[in-house]
Amino acid sequence: MKKGSVLLILTGGTISMGKKANNSLAPLNCDEVLASIPEIQNMNINISSIAFSPLIDSSDMALENWVTICEIIEENYDKYDGFVVLHGTDTMSFSASAVSFMLENLSKPVIFTGSQLPVGVHRSDAKENLITSIEIAAARDDKGNAIVQEVCVFFEDQLMRGNRTTKRNAEEFDAFASFNYHNLAKSGVHIRFYPEYFWASGSKKPLKVHKHLDNNIAILRIFPGINEQTVAAVLRTEGLKAVVLETYGTGNAPSAKWLYKLLCEATKAGIIILNITQCRAGSVEMGRYATSLNLKKAGVVSGYDMTVEAAVAKLMFLFGKYDDNEKIKKELNTSLRGEVTIN
Ligand code: ASP
Repeated sequence: MKKGSVLLILTGGTISMGKKANNSLAPLNCDEVLASIPEIQNMNINISSIAFSPLIDSSDMALENWVTICEIIEENYDKYDGFVVLHGTDTMSFSASAVSFMLENLSKPVIFTGSQLPVGVHRSDAKENLITSIEIAAARDDKGNAIVQEVCVFFEDQLMRGNRTTKRNAEEFDAFASFNYHNLAKSGVHIRFYPEYFWASGSKKPLKVHKHLDNNIAILRIFPGINEQTVAAVLRTEGLKAVVLETYGTGNAPSAKWLYKLLCEATKAGIIILNITQCRAGSVEMGRYATSLNLKKAGVVSGYDMTVEAAVAKLMFLFGKYDDNEKIKKELNTSLRGEVTIN
């Protein structure tokens, strides 16, 4: 079989940092990152790279950076078997979620990875994360088709659907988890894929890249004692189109009349309110408890088992694409890229 080819897209983050001559940590260029992991040269895979200039800490990731990542993939789509995006860990789950929606009909792997320790330091997790991500991005079956055909996060030894991930640990190497969906592969002595969990869009259509996103959305996290002014200030934000309402348990919120009234006022004004649980695992089930019935009556939409990261990205994507709220609500309750389990 012909040698595989992978394009590395270096955006920044800890994985792209290394020790400079004076021993201080600073961003490295692509060549310096690759030179820090000499094993990559022996992989029998053609590797090219493109870097953001300047490299950014992922706390600075913005909508235009997601568009840039997608444009690089679009321009190079036919030239490579797969893509590895080197990204800071802090917002990697948001970026992987957004890119999953922006790339429609994807039939090649796009693997986001990063590291908790800079590539150039002793004990760094960068080497294992990057080498295995490259291997997965180049992996093809007997017919030459990509084994993985979706946007993923690879970290520690797990390949996860990108829009199902959450950064769960700021300290340990095992920093990401997919609480509501089975992993897509696990690396040990061998890389073991779990194809029964792959997103099978089955699409033979050409890649379509959606570049228009709308960030007129907010996150409102409920807590005991939350007051009316705070909720009103968020829901009455000028130009607001949607709110991710982070609720308790299976989607419950205080039964205070003022909250119900404010939610009704917002939904009547055309603001979509999407109910996402604060729990890391499990699903919203509106109507299970009386404390979520009011939300349902107020027109709040269930986000089922979506992560907050996927919910934010999906709303930005849908409002960038449609201006018809009924269509958007329908799409919210449809799994577009395997991001949600609708019971
Ligand atoms: N602040 C860094 C970033 O997200 C952290 C990391 O890469 O791990 O860019």
